[in-house]
Amino acid sequence: MYNQDMLESIKKVEAARKANAELEPRRMTADEKETLLKTFHPDYKQSEFDILNIGPNKGEKVPIELAALLQGKSRIDPASIDLSKPDYDTDVLIIGGGGAGSSAAIEADNAGAKVMLVTKLRIGDANTMMAEGGIQAADKPNDSPAIHYLDAFGGGHFAGKPELVSKLVCEAPEAILWLNELGVEFDKEADGTMVTTHGGGTSRKRMHAAKDYSGAEIMRTLRDEVLNRGIPVIDFTAAIELILDDKGNAAGAVLLNMETKEILIARAKSVIIATGGAGRLHYQGFPTSNHYGATADGLVLAYRAGAKLLYADTLQYHPTGTAYPEQIFGALVTEKVRGLGAKLVNCDGEVFMHPLETRDVTAASIIRECKDRKKSISTVTGEGVWLDTPMIELKLGEGAIEKRIPGMLHMFGKHGVDIRKVPIIVYPTLHYQNGGIDINPDCMSGITNLFVAGEAVGGVHGRNRLMGNSLLDIIVFGRTAGKSAAATVKNVSVGKLSLDHVTKFAQERKQAGTKDDTESPRLLPCYTHRKKEHPPGRNVRPGFQGSTAECHAWRFFHRSSLSPGATPPGRGKAHTFSR
Ligand SMILES: Cc1cc2nc3c(=O)[nH]c(=O)nc-3n(C[C@H](O)[C@H](O)[C@H](O)COP(=O)(O)OP(=O)(O)OC[C@H]3O[C@@H](n4cnc5c(N)ncnc54)[C@H](O)[C@@H]3O)c2cc1C
Repeated sequence: MYNQDMLESIKKVEAARKANAELEPRRMTADEKETLLKTFHPDYKQSEFDILNIGPNKGEKVPIELAALLQGKSRIDPASIDLSKPDYDTDVLIIGGGGAGSSAAIEADNAGAKVMLVTKLRIGDANTMMAEGGIQAADKPNDSPAIHYLDAFGGGHFAGKPELVSKLVCEAPEAILWLNELGVEFDKEADGTMVTTHGGGTSRKRMHAAKDYSGAEIMRTLRDEVLNRGIPVIDFTAAIELILDDKGNAAGAVLLNMETKEILIARAKSVIIATGGAGRLHYQGFPTSNHYGATADGLVLAYRAGAKLLYADTLQYHPTGTAYPEQIFGALVTEKVRGLGAKLVNCDGEVFMHPLETRDVTAASIIRECKDRKKSISTVTGEGVWLDTPMIELKLGEGAIEKRIPGMLHMFGKHGVDIRKVPIIVYPTLHYQNGGIDINPDCMSGITNLFVAGEAVGGVHGRNRLMGNSLLDIIVFGRTAGKSAAATVKNVSVGKLSLDHVTKFAQERKQAGTKDDTESPRLLPCYTHRKKEHPPGRNVRPGFQGSTAECHAWRFFHRSSLSPGATPPGRGKAHTFSR
């Protein structure tokens, strides 16, 4: 599988392996980290950001691709949408069928609210399903929420909202118990004690896992619970605009049936956005570890309706994306691999950093090793450094890889790379949206009755998330959003439905002289066309970017616009309820 140059480099890695395994590399000082980040981390590459001209975060910088969508053109003409006869009427409308949305649905249902969940793919087609390494919680005798707080707050560069970080860590042990009771099969010792390991930036072993498919196990359990409760789930249906009422409160969403292209109206007393991240926007041309639907839709919907974003300029580039083989380019190599003892090594077999620095520091360090120090291994389309996986069994004994990270063994094994015997080549991959919609500890955004949970939130992780704290936040804040939204509906009477905010936003675009006609939200990435869609005047980077116009020229219709008895185009089915 490896070419001759790679095999030559592997000889150096093998020769140094024993000494490297015993080495305890020095941790970087705060000053060293700061300089490294400013010089090599993609978040600091000023040319890759635009200043927003309109909306609640006007004057702030966000990635170019996100700016185009946040300031984009609505997919609907509000004047042509009839809001007077909603297709759905519910208490709590949840947008997004990942871990946060499902946790919210379970708790809102528990609280007795009428709940409906819409998701643009199927429930469980989500980043949650893909999570590998684990979920943090300070539930061992040598640990505490206070220590967890220091790790998370410090790891996020002291930028997290203290009240959100505090909630995250204090409710973590309860989140693990909740999942355990729902049926998540965590790794346990023979006596039932949960196995916990380190992750980057953790000062205690508090990572709980289900081997290296923790997210799949959690998502399986949550999805079963949602379906077993009979909560209505509408698959293949995307929210394309929020609906407010005449008091400016959240009151539903305009939905698009992704199969038939029918427009549907959902009226609700409260709305929860749980739409996840943005990896499929491929910021700066990076590959991504994310699922197909990660296109920052929730941020766009909320922004257009007037909600403020927090830290939308900060992204997480996971240090160990697969750089080779090509078939799995960008796929995640879980941090657990380093947690179990594999070190990062350059083409000369030298360990160039401590393996468990925080993700941003590790990513920047790998980029420096490749771009500046020129100590990378060349691949077909790029470059990377070695992650010396055989070191794991040198330390933990034969069989450790199959037992602890079978998913990784399988993923590389399919392409002829046995990670027990040879190291793998890695390079940062776009992984996580650190920023998102600003919320309070009850998960309410700046818009009354609009709640947000999961990766769509900004402020929980400051400017850098630690491994295992996102699976945790989707449970803690997903559950909270469900409870808060259900509690709210008791006192809500929805006013006249309105899309005036969409019209107003269009006027703001015009006043600001916005020339770019990118439609948003993006909904799905496009890989069939390679045309760049940056605002005019921007350079075209190779790969990944699609053309909104060509790929997403949806043609909408609303049932009210069809003659009586007519069948909508597509599969002749207006929407799907799966129970
Ligand atoms: C490969 C990988 C490994 C990871 N490993 C870990 C780990 O080990 N530990 C950890 O803590 N974190 C990990 N993470 C991060 C973590 O899994 C995610 O941040 C988290 O699961 C996000 O959950 P969510 O519910 O917010 O979003 P998601 O799980 O992504 O769900 C979002 C849902 O919203 C739907 N949606 C999006 N837009 C719309 C729309 N317009 N209308 C309707 N529906 C919409 C999507 O289809 C999807 O169903 C990992 C992430 C990835 C990608």
